[in-house]
Amino acid sequence: MTERRIYLDYAASTPVNARVLERMRDVALSNCANPSSTHAAGREAQDIIAAAAGQLGRLLNVDPDTVVWTSGATESDNLAIGGSARHRAHRGRHLVTMKTEHKAVTDMFEALVKEGFEVTWVEPDGNGLVSPEVFAAALRDDTQLASIMFVNNETGVIQDIEALGAICRERDVLFHVDGAQAVGKLPVDLGALPVDLLSLTGHKFYGPKGIGALYIANRPGCRVEPILFGGGQQRRIRPGTLPTDLVAGLGMAAEVAATRIEADLKHLRGLRKALWDGIRSVDGLTLNGDPDGFPGILNVSVEDVEGESLLLALEPVCVATGSACNSKSQEPSYVLRALGRSDLQAQSAIRFSVGRQTTMEEVEFAAARYRDAVARLRKLAPGAVA
Ligand SMILES: *Cc1c(COP(=O)(O)O)cnc(C)c1O
Repeated sequence: MTERRIYLDYAASTPVNARVLERMRDVALSNCANPSSTHAAGREAQDIIAAAAGQLGRLLNVDPDTVVWTSGATESDNLAIGGSARHRAHRGRHLVTMKTEHKAVTDMFEALVKEGFEVTWVEPDGNGLVSPEVFAAALRDDTQLASIMFVNNETGVIQDIEALGAICRERDVLFHVDGAQAVGKLPVDLGALPVDLLSLTGHKFYGPKGIGALYIANRPGCRVEPILFGGGQQRRIRPGTLPTDLVAGLGMAAEVAATRIEADLKHLRGLRKALWDGIRSVDGLTLNGDPDGFPGILNVSVEDVEGESLLLALEPVCVATGSACNSKSQEPSYVLRALGRSDLQAQSAIRFSVGRQTTMEEVEFAAARYRDAVARLRKLAPGAVA
């Protein structure tokens, strides 16, 4: 029997939903206009984009006018953090974030340090959570922006966005949330949550790659300076010709998600439990993250085995070591190091991430493969991890 690929890397990217693809195809085939054009075809493209903003607005419970389209969460994070820090530099040059954020956030903050901003990196606890007390203690009178991710892409840990946002409101600090792993997967009600800026991306919730959005709350003081300059589209906040078909696809992904978040979560909980039950008997296993985290992600380290070898031994199961964005480097995951894991523990980490199409049979196969792979690698090189 030829082995079928088993894709357990939904945190890196998800398959495009059939209704999303259908919508994108319809739009791509029926409207070739530049949505910036004022003729009838251009106006139709604008209507398609407005409809997508409506769909995304309903998912997030916000006014569609608060949505700015971008190329993905990397750009949204850069625009939110760089754009608001620079806009409010007169208010203070102190910024707060965490070491466990995505590179699109941490590297933007590093860039701002070079521009003369000062960053406080809040320490997570051993599970990866930041407590409201620790967070509040990091804020100063000259703090103008804090950025904390909703669901961690490596561990699945869910931060208490409501509590952290409330502290920011009290202290008049802008609050940005990287919601790339949360939107479309957990209920995210921006009508109720004290969040000023939220980044998201289509391909993490069954939409297309290359399209994302930044929510910018309609509140006084909540403004961003552009990081791109050009034709003045999207009120100059993010110029550039909008890809009508991708925008329509993201809108449809939001509409589909809105109808099935609870059912998806139930499915994911069952899968994660089966996966964990299937591997928990392995000696020297450590769970990275929080048992109450997002059920689509299970990250585990194991003693005396090296992650890259484990990854190869797990084939045809596709999983991630550290995070997909870091797996080209041999450096242990900086996220797991920040949780206090040793280099060796971080190096052996495997992130399983499951989604809508994952079956029970697939996770059971993956668990068996994991048990066998660990046993095999230990036999090959007993106790020998360089
Ligand atoms: C995937 C991801 C990003 C980057 O999104 P792109 O669409 O690939 O730019 C940013 N933050 C988090 C938490 C992510 O998971």
